[in-house]
Amino acid sequence: MRKVIPFERRAVATNALAGAEAKCVHRNLRLVERGGIVMCADCDATLSPFWALSMLSEQYALAMGHIDRLKSRIQLADARILELSQELDAISPGERSLNKSSTDT
Ligand SMILES: [Zn+2]
Repeated sequence: MRKVIPFERRAVATNALAGAEAKCVHRNLRLVERGGIVMCADCDATLSPFWALSMLSEQYALAMGHIDRLKSRIQLADARILELSQELDAISPGERSLNKSSTDT
């Protein structure tokens, strides 16, 4: 009879970074001209230029997606404003004056 030995699931550290550096996502880059080094301005980690470029590319794509979503929301809002103003225009002037507040004369 075979016996299955259960293994505990343990988190494996992919690198030996410690403290803040390990938690940092390195979004704030600092280019050190001398030596052509890319560093994280938050945790001072030296980053691979390829990694930095990939991260920037990813962030750029996310930002462009966000802009696209905002543009479509603006288009929907514009369409709704047009719809509402057409509805308002369709209301006859007599009806419109009934909807005015009592302070209007
Ligand atoms: Zn960092």
